[in-house]
Amino acid sequence: MELRLEHVGHIYNPGTTYERRALDDVCMTIGNGEFIGLIGHTGSGKSTLVQHLNGLLLPSEGKIYADGEDISAEGYPLRKLRFRVGLVFQYPEYQLFESDVLKDISFGPKNQGLNPEEAIQRAREAMRSVGLDESYETRSPFELSGGQKRRAAIAGILAMNPEILVLDEPTAGMDPGGRTEILQLLKKLQEERGITILLVSHSMEDVADYTDRIIVMEEGKILWDEKPSKIFSRIKELEKISLAAPQVSYVMAALHESGWDVDPSVTTIDQAADEIEAQVRKRQAAAGHAAAQVE
Ligand code: ADP
Ligand code: MG
Repeated sequence: MELRLEHVGHIYNPGTTYERRALDDVCMTIGNGEFIGLIGHTGSGKSTLVQHLNGLLLPSEGKIYADGEDISAEGYPLRKLRFRVGLVFQYPEYQLFESDVLKDISFGPKNQGLNPEEAIQRAREAMRSVGLDESYETRSPFELSGGQKRRAAIAGILAMNPEILVLDEPTAGMDPGGRTEILQLLKKLQEERGITILLVSHSMEDVADYTDRIIVMEEGKILWDEKPSKIFSRIKELEKISLAAPQVSYVMAALHESGWDVDPSVTTIDQAADEIEAQVRKRQAAAGHAAAQVE
């Protein structure tokens, strides 16, 4: 499915002393099986934006079209949209509430109108795809580790078979090992099932390693919507809005400036290692050549 946002603005508490503009003239299209990163510092409007994608919040200005249909139109089936666009909230563990994990994860599909057996079937499939085996089915969600709770919460949304999966800082507060597990899981869902993933993050390393496209927000506006390598070549501009490129981009930029013929726009450690290794070989070959000439 395709979601198209046209000049979307959102104002909280309009007409009161608490009036606050959170989105300003946002235009974008998503839904082609991409893995998209949405970054921006606290208060830039990321959470407000993602809650518009499944109609939890409706725009104060502009339009949102789902497969060409205006979701604010009277009679638009917003309930269905919420199943097609799955939203995993920040700190999703607070959304776990049933007595056991299987019940919790089958809550969504039951709510969708599936009969109990089908709902359980869907929940089991979703549990397997996030790496929770049968032994977790009867456990209390509250006994799970932090990473397992996040995975259970993601499974609860996956069980509804969404076409677009939106996750608001799903790795916040997790250790690096747990973060990698979640990110690899998302990559697998995108590659194997063709689900469009929109990942909200403030970790540049995370979005650089996994996404095909990065949207940067600042003060409710979209500043850039580009490929990761293009985004992270804007080190100075990112710093101006209190964001930073991945650390490896700084290393490569510094090497480039000091005369190393490396590509300063690489964003992952693997690419950087390849670039540096190639340069070291070239330099060694040149040194060997020079030594041979002296002899
Ligand atoms: P982010 O997720 O990037 O941190 P948010 O979308 O949460 O940004 O917030 C954008 C702006 O909207 C901020 O100024 C924030 O204070 C304000 N805001 C967010 N939620 C509400 C709300 N429920 N009521 C009023 N203002 C809000
Ligand atoms: Mg937020």
